[in-house]
Amino acid sequence: MAKNNKSLKSMLFLAPTLIFLISFSIILFAFDMAINRYTTSRVYEKIDEEFKEYDFFYDEDNADHIVPSSVDEYEFIIPIHSFLIDENNKLLFPDNQWTLQNEYYVAKEVRDYIVEKNINLNDGKIKKITVGDNTYMVQSKKYVGKYDGIFVIKSNMENKDYMLVAYAEITPMQDFVKFLTKILIIVTVISATIGVFAIFIVIRSIDKSLSNVKKYIIGVGKRKKVSVNSDVVHYKEFEEVIETVENMSNMIDESEMIQKKFFQNASHELRTPLMSIQGYAEGLQLGVFKDKDKSLNIIVNEVNKMSELVNQMLQLSKLDDYEMKREVVDLSFEINNCIDSVRSIAVKNNISIDVFPIGNLKILGDEKQLESAFLNILINAVKYAKSKITVTMKKEMENSIIVISDDGIGINEKDIGHIFERFYKGENGNFGIGLAISKEVIERHDGTISVFSKEGEGTTFEIKIPMLTN
Ligand code: ADP
Repeated sequence: MAKNNKSLKSMLFLAPTLIFLISFSIILFAFDMAINRYTTSRVYEKIDEEFKEYDFFYDEDNADHIVPSSVDEYEFIIPIHSFLIDENNKLLFPDNQWTLQNEYYVAKEVRDYIVEKNINLNDGKIKKITVGDNTYMVQSKKYVGKYDGIFVIKSNMENKDYMLVAYAEITPMQDFVKFLTKILIIVTVISATIGVFAIFIVIRSIDKSLSNVKKYIIGVGKRKKVSVNSDVVHYKEFEEVIETVENMSNMIDESEMIQKKFFQNASHELRTPLMSIQGYAEGLQLGVFKDKDKSLNIIVNEVNKMSELVNQMLQLSKLDDYEMKREVVDLSFEINNCIDSVRSIAVKNNISIDVFPIGNLKILGDEKQLESAFLNILINAVKYAKSKITVTMKKEMENSIIVISDDGIGINEKDIGHIFERFYKGENGNFGIGLAISKEVIERHDGTISVFSKEGEGTTFEIKIPMLTN
């Protein structure tokens, strides 16, 4: 497996921290942008109102100085003021006689700054300036007429240029933003600290659980029984991993046991003919047996038996790792072939084989494997039948059904539940491998095999295999 350098722990730590930092920056940026937008639009609106108010008085018909009711004079969030200067930048209004002295000083300060910095006010655009500790947004408008001490009024007699400069003090707004940003940063730092601490605790317990899971898996790998309780594995997911490993370990144990049993059975089956061969061979060597031919015949028979057993064992073990072919097989054709193979022995033993065939029993499968599965059942039937074997083929829903019956000795109750197990054989049995092979092959074809038997009356095997659907 390719090495992965990314550690889960660092990712668990980095990802939330990054998400936290990014979201905080976005919030701060959005907040800043929203406040700026709000301030600018409010300033535009208010300065516009200021000019409108002045326009109202500029018109000489309204010279009675009555403020129109639509004009909102007070603004607390962003206060708007204005001052009037003449062509030589002389501050005309407010002057040092004006009741609101502070307004006069601020106006003077702003005017001085504009003059000193040579800021062009003629383009009518809003400008942001910082005078001392205060920040203002400034816009100007030119009026031509006669100055009456407070306003410039349209006049035919006198036409001088005046400049009304409206300015909004946005310092309180900026201070407010600064204050909120500070609070936001403090809240973020506190919650980030709590968050990091919480993540740290979670990571520590994940780490502990992981190392316990690791210990458990290593133990299982060494085939030791390790018990894990829920105190050391804190999360459901790790418990699931342990459960899966436990199931896997049980499966391995089971397969080891099957293998062990297989070897035990195989050596047991091989020992009997081997001992017989050894006995006769030694007897011959020592000249104990007078009938040499009989002894040699027994030896040859036992060797044949062993070779047959080894063949069957090989066939069985091949099934475990042999990739099954999936080709179209006509079951009725295959069964007829198998019947033909056993017919000569059946005839020799005076056993009739009645076949009730049906055409087109196509399935997807492995021809060779199926052939050996049916042959094993038919060979047994010929071996145990008294006089008759019946083979019936049927279709039932999407299944093909093969029924093989004989009128033989039947299988007793003690044996019937075990005859498909490897190496299980009845009283007159051979090696006990044939039916195990048949069952495994049929199940590999998604089929089932069942047996019905009555002692002294006969045995019936029913095989069901799903048919090929077009
Ligand atoms: P083997 O035939 O080598 O003993 P099998 O796996 O083919 O092994 O069969 C297992 C056992 O099932 C046999 O030993 C026998 O006792 C019983 N058996 C199988 N088929 C029949 C049958 N048609 N009639 C009676 N008994 C049977």
